[in-house]
Amino acid sequence: MAEKRDYYEVLGVPKTASAEEIKKAYRKLAKEYHPDRNPGDKTAEDKFKEAGEAYEVLGNEEKRAKYDQFGHAAFDGTAGAGGAGYGGGGFDFGGFGDIFSDIFGGGFGGGFGGQRRNPNAPQRGNDIEQSIELTFEQACFGTEIEVNINHTETCEHCHGSCAEPGSGESVKCSACGGTGQVRRVQKTPFGSFANVTTCSVCGGSGTVIKNPCKVCGGKGSVHKVRKKKIRVPAGINHGQQISVRGEGDAGIKGGPSGDLFLTVYVKKHKIFERQGYDIYCDFPITFVEAALGAEVEVPTIDGKVKYNISEGTQSGTKFRLRGKGVPKINSNQRGDQYVTVIVEIPKNLNDKQKELLRQFADTVDGSKYKQRKTFFDKMKDAFK
Ligand SMILES: [Zn+2]
Ligand SMILES: [Zn+2]
Repeated sequence: MAEKRDYYEVLGVPKTASAEEIKKAYRKLAKEYHPDRNPGDKTAEDKFKEAGEAYEVLGNEEKRAKYDQFGHAAFDGTAGAGGAGYGGGGFDFGGFGDIFSDIFGGGFGGGFGGQRRNPNAPQRGNDIEQSIELTFEQACFGTEIEVNINHTETCEHCHGSCAEPGSGESVKCSACGGTGQVRRVQKTPFGSFANVTTCSVCGGSGTVIKNPCKVCGGKGSVHKVRKKKIRVPAGINHGQQISVRGEGDAGIKGGPSGDLFLTVYVKKHKIFERQGYDIYCDFPITFVEAALGAEVEVPTIDGKVKYNISEGTQSGTKFRLRGKGVPKINSNQRGDQYVTVIVEIPKNLNDKQKELLRQFADTVDGSKYKQRKTFFDKMKDAFK
């Protein structure tokens, strides 16, 4: 496959474009390259798909933020939740109902003489979204959690047929005579116009159920909360999603179920802060440790590790603990931990301690304070 173009470039908008500008740019392209307007034109079809894919990401605040951070890698499994990921990154028209009806006026294909969707065809169930909360450590090392999935399942009483079993499934719709469409003739001063619409009684299927199922009320599916254990991969981060195939809402007329998307929320840690796969923390030491050097114990997500603070360490010095960061998703590599040393000056010293420090100060000349000396030299030059 050819290298993917930048989504902003595809839509022809700057990276700073507002949501409204992105939507506008997409509408323009979608109209221009719509397959119904360019029959048999492969280039137009590709452009149409490319624009749709770009809009799927840039038109969604969360996905756009991820794209800005990781680029295309955010959606091909290398930076997302890997195996969990976005379901293979296939382009799906499912989520476009709103914008298509917006552009083409009522139903995909309806405005350009496309085929009418067969109301009796199996339909895939809706995707659903829920959130899960993880501790910092659970997100780092992965875990298995129990989720209460709140979705619809095919009604066990009618097996999705919507009819009460043994009641003689369905009969021809009397409102439309079984055609699924109603023809209305409108008389106007300019003549009569026939207007064909979908039958509102049978929803276009041409049949109605004589006795609706008593359990699901004729919907074919029922609301259920199902407990399920979900494996959370090590390294997952705040805001990412885990997809669980087939745990969305039940399909209609024998169609497959939708998918469940679990959005991950990670609780803040008391000491650590995470950026990508790296961990950051501040580590306070005493001014004596900073001056003399010391062996200290630094916290990591694996436990404490020994570290030698060297003599004369300044406040704000940052050191790296290689491989002590977060495990990378689907990999045996890990990020690093960065520790920033904060030198703490003691407060409320007693008289004896103050006297010792004065004695100490008398023995130290200005050259021992390099930063201070350089600063005062510069100052002297500046105000000559
Ligand atoms: Zn039922
Ligand atoms: Zn009907």
